[in-house]
Amino acid sequence: MKETNITNKTLIDKLENEHSLSHDEWFLLLDSFTDEDRLYTAEKARAIADKIYGKDVFIRGIVEFSNICKQDCYYCGLRCGNAKLERYRLSEEDILNCCEDGYKYGFRTFVLQSGEDPFYDTEMICRIVTRLKKDYPDCAVTLSIGEKSYEDYEAFRKAGADRYLLRHETANEEHYGKLHPATMSWKNRMRCLDDLKALGYQTGCGIMIGSPGQTTECIVDDMLYMQEFKPEMIGLGPFLPHSDTPFKDEPKGSYEMTLFLISLCRLMLPNVLLPATTALGTIKPNGREQGILAGANVIMPNLSPVKVRDKYMLYDNKICTGDTSSECRGCIEKRMEFIGYNVVISRGDHKS
Ligand code: SAH
Ligand code: SF4
Repeated sequence: MKETNITNKTLIDKLENEHSLSHDEWFLLLDSFTDEDRLYTAEKARAIADKIYGKDVFIRGIVEFSNICKQDCYYCGLRCGNAKLERYRLSEEDILNCCEDGYKYGFRTFVLQSGEDPFYDTEMICRIVTRLKKDYPDCAVTLSIGEKSYEDYEAFRKAGADRYLLRHETANEEHYGKLHPATMSWKNRMRCLDDLKALGYQTGCGIMIGSPGQTTECIVDDMLYMQEFKPEMIGLGPFLPHSDTPFKDEPKGSYEMTLFLISLCRLMLPNVLLPATTALGTIKPNGREQGILAGANVIMPNLSPVKVRDKYMLYDNKICTGDTSSECRGCIEKRMEFIGYNVVISRGDHKS
């Protein structure tokens, strides 16, 4: 085959110029990249992000309002099968108070995230979104509350929700089956993402790097899917095992591969909003800084009350569980300044 003669640098240049690669090109690149290729890509990715978003890093305040979940994803500490976890729910007032604090600290996007907890019905979510949009008209509201019907997504959107985060987890149906029980369906996850896009949300998908059973072929499928779907946001973090899940003995994902994929996503979708995730900061103490330097432009510090933080344990050793919202905000600002970037007070919308 001709392609074996193409160097990885040529493929990276092609991605930068054309924003897409073929299946075989993706495979070749992901299967054989070196540290040098990764750093070459990171430099390009950072230059593109600097050109589009400057030295600005957008912050999103994340309120983890319930750790109760009806789903049983094998990788996640919040799965309903984990009987050891002490569960909590925040009241509407608690959620609004977290956002009120967040506004004072300069957050202009609130991300409401939870397990799939039926206690918060459509009406209740709409009420919270409406209230937030009324009290903070200069803010964006992002939901990350899992798989819902088209009608629910439509209702949240009408109430004012701007963005929705729903990682697709894997674009490979067979791989999806290894990460989830048979009660969950890959087709439904993909349907949700299509619905969100059709409803005009700034839509975020994404994957865990190194999730059990993930092969290079799976990541190729992910890149091809995102190349076509064109999400406004992409969440990428290493898989990290949780001790009370069936995947407790599985190895964690690769830090380097995570950074490489961040850079590749920036080349593929130059305007995309890319967080340097908490999981990246958990696997390496300066992982989030390295994520920014590899082309990310968003950080999502926690706004949840300190008393519940250590209960929202998706994976072991999650960082920042003992800090207050104000401490997290200050810490992120210092970390960004240290690498020459500025946290900005802005909604930080996708530039389309
Ligand atoms: N219930 C919602 C939102 C909360 S979970 C949902 O599932 O969409 C948010 C994300 O955390 C998931 O999409 C998953 O990619 C990530 N996550 C869960 N368990 C993890 C683990 N063990 N390691 C790394 N990331 C994990
Ligand atoms: Fe629930 Fe989301 Fe965890 Fe799956 S990943 S168990 S849906 S919180």
